[in-house]
Amino acid sequence: MLHQNLIDGEWVVGEAVPNINPSDTNEVVGEYALASKADAETAIAAAKAALPAWSRSGLLERQGILRKAADEILARKEELGTLLAREEGKTLAEGIGETVRAAQIFDFFAGEALRLSGETVPSVRPGIGVEMTREAVGVVGIITPWNFPIAIPAWKIAPALCHGNTLVFKPAELVPGCAWAIVDILHRAGLPKGVLNLVMGKGSVVGQAILDSRDVSAITFTGSVSTGKRVAAACAEHMRKVQLEMGGKNPLVVLDDADLDIAVDCAVNGAFFATGQRCTASSRLVVTEGIHDRFVNAVTEKLKSLVIDNALKQGTHIGPVVDQNQLDQDEKYLAVGRDEGATLAFGGERLNRETPGFYLQPALFTDTKPDMRINREEIFGPVASVIRVKDYEEAIAVANDTPFGLSSGICTTSLKHATHFKRNAEAGMVMVNLPTAGVDFHVPFGGRKGSSYGPREQGRYAAEFYTTVKAAYTQA
Ligand code: NAD
Repeated sequence: MLHQNLIDGEWVVGEAVPNINPSDTNEVVGEYALASKADAETAIAAAKAALPAWSRSGLLERQGILRKAADEILARKEELGTLLAREEGKTLAEGIGETVRAAQIFDFFAGEALRLSGETVPSVRPGIGVEMTREAVGVVGIITPWNFPIAIPAWKIAPALCHGNTLVFKPAELVPGCAWAIVDILHRAGLPKGVLNLVMGKGSVVGQAILDSRDVSAITFTGSVSTGKRVAAACAEHMRKVQLEMGGKNPLVVLDDADLDIAVDCAVNGAFFATGQRCTASSRLVVTEGIHDRFVNAVTEKLKSLVIDNALKQGTHIGPVVDQNQLDQDEKYLAVGRDEGATLAFGGERLNRETPGFYLQPALFTDTKPDMRINREEIFGPVASVIRVKDYEEAIAVANDTPFGLSSGICTTSLKHATHFKRNAEAGMVMVNLPTAGVDFHVPFGGRKGSSYGPREQGRYAAEFYTTVKAAYTQA
């Protein structure tokens, strides 16, 4: 079956592209249609035409559709989690977990649809009243990356629909399967035609068509810094609203007084689970002298015990890297780290498994310096480096010394240091005795500096991006 694009409520054929399983490159997960520039333009026109009715649609209609989607995603969590694991390479447990998360996001915004509110205040001029309301922004372009194939589309689509916007959704080329499934579910849940359009295809063609359109009022993008800059420039050109979530080089500080078991769990989970392919991954482990050697030994021992194999195989802890390009990037940085004088304390080898896939042994660098490229540039793979520091003061300075600012963590039993860190970490999210990755769906998500641009995503804060505020004055 060819999975087609959804444009103006119709499934539309296109050139078929195979979706390959990174755990077994002989396996085709499915065939997916490639949208053209003209398809993207038709989709944008359909979203524009659907806007007046959808932006004034009844709240129960929106709530009902979002709730139906949540229910179906949850009921199909095993199947969709398996699809996710097959197309992206996360383990089955991670795939199911992410699918449940997507259902929870739709459920949250189903509830939000019944809680939309505004404010009424008296004017400073007697006899006049002022109403402040939030209205839909308009046609929203949604451009997503490959690493959270169901959760990221969910956390953009759900609030966008909840607030009455119409959408043109372009998922990453590597993961059309989850994107198609979520759109199919929403379509069958009863969305009017043109409200949600799916255009699977190339960033340079379909993504670019969204950036170039005068009819797109806002773009929400998650992906790399380099693409994010293009998106921001195009949005400045068109004076449109933009939200960018991009890379990370997240520090996990481990102090001498940390509980070693907690610190090791946080580091291994944060740095290597989901194959290290998380924007919130703990890629820099900033460790004070007194615990350094014990910490490195314990992390290394733990890494030896992890099973790296086919994402669907029972017992696998870490699946393959997503594709050959990402594997090449990981291996390039392994070479850069060695050339810069870091010690490869563990891992970094290509692994052969029963099925041909992009398997890489998680890698831990030690003896690294904050200014090395491996500590400044996002690798986006199962590679982490340890930076040895003297004390807490040096640790927080190193933690903040990065062009990124997404998530920042600390493992300590000191209330004083935990409190100081929460206040002074230059990041959008701060974790104490928790991995830097792994966040709740009902609170704001996003970062500072090179990691994010524009309003936060998720929870009630999502309204900042998906609505525009109107102040209406009435003289009674
Ligand atoms: P990417 O920038 O290569 O692609 C992201 C999306 O942009 C894809 O859909 C792609 O097709 C599209 N695109 C590419 N060129 C385009 C163009 N010219 N015009 C419009 N769209 C275009 O990123 P990726 O490799 O898919 O994802 C990995 C990156 O995503 C990492 O840097 C990671 O840190 C980041 N990420 C960030 C977050 C976050 O919330 N901060 C979450 C997940 C991933």
